[in-house]
This record gives sequence, C-alpha cells and structure tokens, in this order.
Amino acid sequence: MKFTVSRSIGTQQRLSRKIITQDKSIALVPTMGFLHQGHLSLIRRGLRKADIVVTSIFVNPAQFAPHEDFNQYPRDHKSDLQKIRSAGGQIVFMPKASDIYPVDYETYVTVENMTGALEGKSRPTHFRGVTTIVAQLFNIIRPDFALFGMKDYQQAMVLKKMCSDLNWPIKMIIVPTLREKDGLAMSSRNKYLSPLLRAEAPALYQSLLAARQSARRGETGAAAIRRQMKRLIDKAAPSGKIDYIAFTEMESLIPVRRVDKNTVVSLAVKLGPIRLIDNLKIA
Ligand code: AMP
Repeated sequence: MKFTVSRSIGTQQRLSRKIITQDKSIALVPTMGFLHQGHLSLIRRGLRKADIVVTSIFVNPAQFAPHEDFNQYPRDHKSDLQKIRSAGGQIVFMPKASDIYPVDYETYVTVENMTGALEGKSRPTHFRGVTTIVAQLFNIIRPDFALFGMKDYQQAMVLKKMCSDLNWPIKMIIVPTLREKDGLAMSSRNKYLSPLLRAEAPALYQSLLAARQSARRGETGAAAIRRQMKRLIDKAAPSGKIDYIAFTEMESLIPVRRVDKNTVVSLAVKLGPIRLIDNLKIA
C-alpha cells in the first residue's frame, strides 16, 4: 500500500473500511509524535502482526492538566512522517484537535480503580484523557491489534482493562522499553533535559536495576528496597525530586508490601522541570 497521511476522521474511516473489506488486518500505534526508536519499535512489531500499520500522531489535550506541558510538548511532523515511512508504516492518522473534541464534546471513558494510584495520583485527569482518545482511535481506525510501550506501564494496563471491559475485539500488545546506551528510557521529553540533568537521568534505571538485584538476592520488603532506591537516586541524581517509587502487582497495579516475581517497580522523578517515569519487573 502507498504511504498515506489521513488528516480527517472521515478519510481515516474510509481507508479503514477499504482495508477491512479487502480482508487485511490493521495494527494501531497511538503516539503523540516527536518519534524516537521506541515508537518505531512499536511500528515494526505491528508490521510483524498485521498487514497495515496505522500510526496516529495526536498531542491529546485531554490528557494534559492546565499546568502541564501541552504547549511545550515537542512537535516535528515532517521528521515523524519520514521516520514512519522508513520503518515501513503505511498510514499516518493526524487528526485536528477540533475534530476529535468539537466545542460541544462531552463523552469520556474512564477506568475507575486502576487509575487512582501512581501516575493517576499526581495527574488526576490524565488517564481519563488517555482512555477517551484511545477509545476514539479504536472506533475510527477499527484495528485488530493495538501496540503500547511498557515504558508507560500503568497506561498499558489501564488500556488493556478498558479494552477487555468494553469487549473490543482488539489484541493488545505491550512492547518492551527501548533505552539509550546508558539505560535512560527513550522519551520525547528527554530532549528538554539540560546536559547536567541528562547526566543525572540514568539514575532512574540504575535504581530500578538495584531494586531487582536486591529482590533477587532475597530482600522481599518493599519499604527496604524503596529506601535503597531513594539513597541511590539522591546520590546519583542530586537534582531529582522523587514523586513516587511504587511496588505493585503486575496486572492489577494493587500496591504490595512484599515483592515477588509478579511485582513491578514504577517510579516518577522530576529532574528540574522534566518529569520522567520508568518501571521494571522485579523478577
Ligand atoms: P507517546 O508518544 O509518548 O505517547 O508514546 C506513544 C507510545 O510509544 C506509547 O505506547 C508509549 O508507551 C510508547 N513508548 C514511548 N517511549 C517508549 C520507549 N522508550 N520504548 C518503547 N515504547 C515507548
């Protein structure tokens, strides 16, 4: 299929209908653009699963609180289109915010319990925006597969829950986090780290690795491991302000006091103005 950019909901609906009529499968990769290798790994994985990969680029206003970085969120559509094309993605859906959320818009999708902790605690309206836009994308694009990064672990679990609760016949695929050589999880926001903060940023992943090592050596107390992580971050990233370090059960995201092979450690740390998140399965 020829590389196509669809800029309106109607165009995308027609394209999807045509693909489905031809009995071809669709994989959806939702993004906010400013693409890096992590995003491209989702597209490549999608291409192994489905005939057509639709990548959406949409900086979703509904998932940013008024004080957050919606206006500053980095954008580079020209380079994004080139990257998607060379990764083999066939369709890019780039709707206008005023088409997705017209002035009289009033329908939101919420996943209730799983969105209260971790990111949801610091960003109370965030997941309602995420689930609403992904629900819209599912309805417009009608994918067979949808790919999400483990980097945003809670988001992936919340979306999996939404998909299963609402009975969308879509297979959710969670793709491992791609990292820079020094371990920092790739993120569009990394570009805003000053050289000093960029040098401190790998401390997040180092602390997650240290947590895993402790658990493997037999430490089961979440509080003890948290203290160890905090010490490491305070030392290696003195500019860092820890928002949370959380130990939760893998699927339900329920907090645990004792870690085991089903535990995920997640953290959010503010480095100067940039808030970074990361996570690791402890086993
Ligand atoms: P974003 O554009 O930040 O909303 O991310 C779009 C998708 O790419 C989400 O499913 C993210 O979890 C995923 N993603 C972001 N960073 C990475 C990464 N470093 N490795 C793998 N997937 C990622």
